[in-house]
Amino acid sequence: MIRIDSVTKRYPDGTVAVDRLSLEIPDRSITVLVGPSGCGKTTTLRMINRMVEPSEGTILIDGVDIQKQPVNTLRRSMGYVIQNAGLFQHRTIIDNIATVPRLLGWSKDKARGRAAELMDRVGLDSSLARRYPYQLSGGQQQRVGVARALAADPPVLLMDEPFSAVDPVVRKGLQDELLRLQEELGKTIVFVTHDIDEAVKLGTMVAVMRTGGHLAQFAPPSELLSDPADSFVEDFLGADRGIRRLSFFSSAGLQLQTAPVVAVDASAERIAARGTADAPYVLVTDLDGRPLGWSRPQDLTPGEIAPERLLSYGRPFVAGRDSLRAALDGTVLSPTGWAVAVDDAGRVVGVVSQQVIGEAIREAHAEAPRAAKVAG
Ligand code: ADP
Repeated sequence: MIRIDSVTKRYPDGTVAVDRLSLEIPDRSITVLVGPSGCGKTTTLRMINRMVEPSEGTILIDGVDIQKQPVNTLRRSMGYVIQNAGLFQHRTIIDNIATVPRLLGWSKDKARGRAAELMDRVGLDSSLARRYPYQLSGGQQQRVGVARALAADPPVLLMDEPFSAVDPVVRKGLQDELLRLQEELGKTIVFVTHDIDEAVKLGTMVAVMRTGGHLAQFAPPSELLSDPADSFVEDFLGADRGIRRLSFFSSAGLQLQTAPVVAVDASAERIAARGTADAPYVLVTDLDGRPLGWSRPQDLTPGEIAPERLLSYGRPFVAGRDSLRAALDGTVLSPTGWAVAVDDAGRVVGVVSQQVIGEAIREAHAEAPRAAKVAG
């Protein structure tokens, strides 16, 4: 555990960047420092690896004051990733990643072997190994930055706005990749961002900071969304707080209905299975169970089910894996007001109404105020 104990940083010009900050950063999880520009996030991160020395207070790692160990030993136990990756432009990708192992005295072959393994881990094709950083996209360069930080397998990873300079689509990919990587590696990650959505998505714990280096709230993301400590945190969280919180509730318990689901064969000449016809709409699937669209029951005449006459089935959610937010979104997008639930292979397992989801939301609020994060 990294323990920040009443730490203050006053720069020589008198700026108080961090003011009596105390935080306990748990092992093997992602702790995000978030807040507006200039609130002291980077200063806090850099005090952990002693690129900045605190004016007052102490930082302990597993109970040991970081001032009491040689700075090189400390930094070797911490990978550091920054915006724009900070790669060595005159070194190939493989040698960028092998930098720290080489500094630690590994042979060239062993260091490059490790670097190749890491390229694979972070999703970089081995054909990029001999390229130079300028020959890679921004997103690829960020992956190299992460691989380089992980090269010596440090227990701690410090990440300072690592994904801020790439476009939203690439950024989402990098975030998903970091979550996947973290499941495998279980590092203690301290992640700085000014983007609250990124904080909520990635953080096991989120520290919201405000200008002047004060801690406004330190809580798991679902708790931030349900119980912001004050109006500053509430404003910072922004709109749709309630809807966004639904990402933390699983769709697993939803009562799915299968009666309004009918399967037709490829030529739509045969209705293979028919549900009850008293529903206002039925969902038509192919014989594999993949959704085709919605129809009124009375329009379901064998031989006349033209796909272009079916209403769009919107965006299905994966039952049990996606969240209540994804399920609710499915009902909002659906012209019938019903969402389609599918399995991992995209086959329909049932349909669900807004009303049923509304009831599930009420139950979720009552039962699980601190629900675990789920996908979607
Ligand atoms: P953030 O990462 O949240 O944007 P920083 O930690 O970079 O915030 O900065 C916090 C405050 O400290 C800001 O007011 C910034 O201008 C100031 N600051 C940062 N570095 C220095 C420095 N080397 N000298 C003086 N002031 C600094």
